[in-house]
Amino acid sequence: MLINSPETHYDIVIAGGGLVGGSFALLLDALPAMRNLRILLVDNAALGNDASDASKPFDARSTAISWGSRQIFLQAGLWDQLYPGLTAITDIHVSDKGHVGAARLRSDAMNVEALGYVAENTHLNQVIASGLLNSKQIAVLAPGSIVSVKPVPEGVSLIMAAGSQTETRITSRLLVIADGGRSTLCEQLGITLTRKPYGQHALISNISFEKPHQGCAFERFTDTGPLAVLPLPDLDGEHRAALVWTLTDDQVAETMALSDEAFLAALQQRFGYRLGKLNRVGERVLYPLNLTLASEQIRPGIVLLGNVAHTLHPVAGQGLNLALRDARELAEMMAEAVAAEQAASIGNYSWLQQYVQRQQRDQQQTVVFSDQVTRLFSNNSPLLALGRNIGLLGMDLVPPAKRWFSRQAMGMTDRRIGPVSRRHQ
Ligand SMILES: Cc1cc2nc3c(=O)[nH]c(=O)nc-3n(C[C@H](O)[C@H](O)[C@H](O)COP(=O)(O)OP(=O)(O)OC[C@H]3O[C@@H](n4cnc5c(N)ncnc54)[C@H](O)[C@@H]3O)c2cc1C
Repeated sequence: MLINSPETHYDIVIAGGGLVGGSFALLLDALPAMRNLRILLVDNAALGNDASDASKPFDARSTAISWGSRQIFLQAGLWDQLYPGLTAITDIHVSDKGHVGAARLRSDAMNVEALGYVAENTHLNQVIASGLLNSKQIAVLAPGSIVSVKPVPEGVSLIMAAGSQTETRITSRLLVIADGGRSTLCEQLGITLTRKPYGQHALISNISFEKPHQGCAFERFTDTGPLAVLPLPDLDGEHRAALVWTLTDDQVAETMALSDEAFLAALQQRFGYRLGKLNRVGERVLYPLNLTLASEQIRPGIVLLGNVAHTLHPVAGQGLNLALRDARELAEMMAEAVAAEQAASIGNYSWLQQYVQRQQRDQQQTVVFSDQVTRLFSNNSPLLALGRNIGLLGMDLVPPAKRWFSRQAMGMTDRRIGPVSRRHQ
């Protein structure tokens, strides 16, 4: 529900209506115990107005969402709208250029309809935005901004601004900061983000191949760094896929300067001919890669969610998936507190510490998994290459190892997802 100016008190204020803040709000909306809570979401941009991909459909940016995230979107009531726009990943092929080691993960071996899905970001954002705007419970102030934050005994005191309205002072038991990797709110609060540069950039582009991908995603380890190719829907008869190619910083300028033909030849040489000849490359975009972790995830009356809490290397495709698991845990803890008539404890430091403790293991495992896999497969040392290949061959031959890797890739590291079951739409 879009509003023009906020009330004076809320139970929860969420700053940021992106993939994480928006999904978190809708998880709360779907929990019956939260019905009587006052929730405000504020974003400094209008929601669902991102038409950037509409004029160049070939280049639409995308995100891999894991099987585990599917469960979370189901819980948030978003799955039915999301599903028609997704491409199922039924196989993941992991290989190392120039070496024999390879492993293939299959959805049927895990007894699921897909290991994960690829969603075009515009579609994801639109589904989340329409859920927020149609919600009767979530008040949405967008565009709007939080001018200042001050801790007070009952939570936080915020000065809000929206359009030409005069600034309003409001209070909230809890402020959920989900304003992305360049958080001005954290800056204001003096919460530092520690960046560990990988010395790499991700080159993102959509590409087309001669052969259909048949739902297969590829993770390939090359001399420049790991490379991922994710299946996308065909467009105007072209078999499309999304490329995330990791380049070391010193290779970036040279690779970006290549003509499309030379770029395709360089990529083909590294990716091989699994999908036949590469036909086309779209717009190339670069992202500098860092592992960024917030120095504090909680303060009295404040909690960080999403990229602001942890930004991971994109090649392992875990950033959004981990943040959604954090969001679900926090939402469910709130519902438990409300059901136990402990709503007043939401935002207490000791209550927030329980959230951090519950998510600590999952966060550590996922950060280490993304970081180590990336570093291991970005290293050209012959000894490490041998180790990788033994690892990949071993993984293909030893079912428990393969299952472990599959569960990581599927975002099933949290303790609550038990045995997998096949669920068709
Ligand atoms: C190239 C690339 C590929 C990726 N691929 C994958 C993948 O395949 N799988 C995966 O799981 N993850 C992937 N990720 C990670 C994923 O994109 C992020 O985890 C996710 O976008 C984080 O969402 P967020 O809501 O935290 O931040 P954002 O999506 O950045 O949203 C932040 C929101 O806050 C708003 N905002 C900003 N400042 C303010 C403010 N001061 N006040 C109010 N609102 C504000 C913004 O308008 C925006 O709506 C990838 C990342 C990159 C860079």
